[in-house]
Amino acid sequence: MTKINIHGLSAEELAEIIVKEGFPSYRAKQIFHWLYPKKVKSFKEMKNLPRNLITLLESLFHLESLNCLAQQESKDGAVKFLFELEDKELIESVLISHRDTSNTSRERNTICLSSQVGCLWHCLFCASGQKGFKRNLEASEIVEQILAVQRLSGKAIHNVVFMGMGEPLNNYEQLMRALTIINGREGLNIGARKITISTCGIIPGIKKLADNPLQVELSVSLHGAEDNLRNYLMPVNRRYPLSQLIPTCREYVKKKNRQITFEYLMLKGINDSADEAQKLSKLISDFNTKVNLIIYNPLQTAQEGVNLSPSDPAAVYSFQQILKKSNIPVTVRYSKGQAIQAACGQLRGAHLDRQSYFD
Ligand code: SF4
Repeated sequence: MTKINIHGLSAEELAEIIVKEGFPSYRAKQIFHWLYPKKVKSFKEMKNLPRNLITLLESLFHLESLNCLAQQESKDGAVKFLFELEDKELIESVLISHRDTSNTSRERNTICLSSQVGCLWHCLFCASGQKGFKRNLEASEIVEQILAVQRLSGKAIHNVVFMGMGEPLNNYEQLMRALTIINGREGLNIGARKITISTCGIIPGIKKLADNPLQVELSVSLHGAEDNLRNYLMPVNRRYPLSQLIPTCREYVKKKNRQITFEYLMLKGINDSADEAQKLSKLISDFNTKVNLIIYNPLQTAQEGVNLSPSDPAAVYSFQQILKKSNIPVTVRYSKGQAIQAACGQLRGAHLDRQSYFD
């Protein structure tokens, strides 16, 4: 019988399985306590369980599917982890530590998670889509990225962002399963508002999320306020054009009574003019949004014929001022981890060739 990864099960599902085998349901809570707050790596370490339950767990489940092959730390404190999955595919996760703005002696840690191996969408500025899509991650592989990074770094995780490899809303079922464990009180117990799902604009996924009671943050990568520009930067726009995406976002905000963040990558001479800023203001100023202007991180492995560069500071400033005049809250974001290709859009750039990762 093929063993299943226990990190893909909710506490309720685990309870159902062990009750069927004749054990009381409270044992599931104990097992979850060992799996998450204690982060054990074997069933034998679950000291308060009877031997026959440990034997059952060993026969039904396995515990670990991620093997950390490498860690790289950048000077700004971001740490990138390269994980090998059971089928030898590779994914990356990034740990970013920063000071709490309200209490600077307190460190807060954010993990950037991958949701797929590769990506379908081939955005022009992103390394993750360059070699195409391989497969969706299982919920257990998503959850285990957090456990592994916690163990390897010895740090607690306060925020989770799905901005690593892959498009999370193209892996909706496993994403939601993982979120029940990440957010669950018996699991990793990370508040929904500390979890951000970032999408390139997958309309069916945004609609499903609007109907889901989980109060996670949603961030939509826009990068252009007109279809022609967005088609060029993000092929997903041909499938889900702005004329459909923006009304879907407006509906999401209305249904959930939550703000949406639009991510806008500042690309010199491409989407950073005053005219583009005006178009963006017009597109999104009538509902509850905010904008993150992201300074572009050049790729080590840029696509052939593509020559993108970050906007000049003056262009970023003028762009920001135009949005502010339309009362759109706007922040400028400088990603950490650029030097180790761990910043926004750079994941999977450095290990397209396994060997080069270690050079
Ligand atoms: S930006 Fe996101 S959607 Fe686009 S290719 Fe990269 S991972 Fe995929």
